[in-house]
Amino acid sequence: MDLAKLKDDILKGRRRALAKGITLTESSRPDHRAAAQELLAELLPHTGKSVRLGFTGTPGVGKSTFIEAFGTFLTGQGHRVAVLAIDPSSARNGGSILGDKTRMEMLSRDANAFIRPSPSGGTLGGVARRTREAMLMVEAAGYDVVLIETVGVGQSEVAVADMVDMFLLLLSPGGGDELQGIKRGIMELADLVIVNKADGDLEAAAKRAAADYRAALHLMRPKSANWTARVMLASALKNKGLEEIWEAIEAYRAALGQSGELAALRAEQAVSWMWSEIHDQLMDRFRDHLPEQVHRMEQQVRDGATPPGMAAQELLQAFLSGQGTPGGSGQ
Ligand code: GDP
Repeated sequence: MDLAKLKDDILKGRRRALAKGITLTESSRPDHRAAAQELLAELLPHTGKSVRLGFTGTPGVGKSTFIEAFGTFLTGQGHRVAVLAIDPSSARNGGSILGDKTRMEMLSRDANAFIRPSPSGGTLGGVARRTREAMLMVEAAGYDVVLIETVGVGQSEVAVADMVDMFLLLLSPGGGDELQGIKRGIMELADLVIVNKADGDLEAAAKRAAADYRAALHLMRPKSANWTARVMLASALKNKGLEEIWEAIEAYRAALGQSGELAALRAEQAVSWMWSEIHDQLMDRFRDHLPEQVHRMEQQVRDGATPPGMAAQELLQAFLSGQGTPGGSGQ
């Protein structure tokens, strides 16, 4: 594989090259992983210039309609928009979010938009890592707004919040009822809450819901000293509120940019990414290296024959001393 050419083509914004680069990061083949890391290291100086947005909401709230409308609004303003996703469940159901070709039909035909479904398979950590790498690649290819979507059901929100500048939560006019279904933790992650479907018969309910959400947010500790989470109304269907939302995103970036908080946030995210890589790779090696011992020890712990702490100690000792099945010291 000609990595130098691939790099050049990605930097020129060629979509096929970009898709190929991302596929390389998603591969589990060790030679592909090594090539992907080399490519990423080469591309790194060209990354980081985008607005990184995380985006969540329960199914049916209007995420794809919103991303389609918002993405199209942004490309209309001269931006280049990449849409990525994190959906750990796609391993189970064969790809759900963004996997469906009928979603975002207009945006997917837009020359200034690039849409990539969630990598499938593996743990949340693995899916998140591949999405992070895809984010760097689209940045190198010149996309200046990156939207990372996830479904509003759990841990993947935390993973997304950990790789973006700003976290947007999409809610529907259901108001207080819906608030019950949304984990408080997800509400706490939000820098911007958007009440979608503020149109027609739903408009009045959307306004009431927005007031409820404002009250709820008011009770939470602000994430940043430089920004107070806002609640805004939108209609993805009628293209309403999109410009105001973009203005709020710019205001957020200005507030955190001037204070140096954005740079500090990204620096911390990079370090925490490094640690999760170490964690994931160690765990993989650990399991590959001592499969029988791990299996035996799990059974002993399950049977109550060995205390978990002691079992962990023994397995770690065996791993660190390079004992166990062939593979040496975990190399
Ligand atoms: P997702 O599951 O969160 O991606 O939601 P979809 O984008 O597929 O939308 C779910 C349903 O809500 C669809 O029937 C949309 O037409 C509808 N919908 C989305 N946005 C709006 C909106 O702004 N107003 C109204 N009235 N309906 C909307």
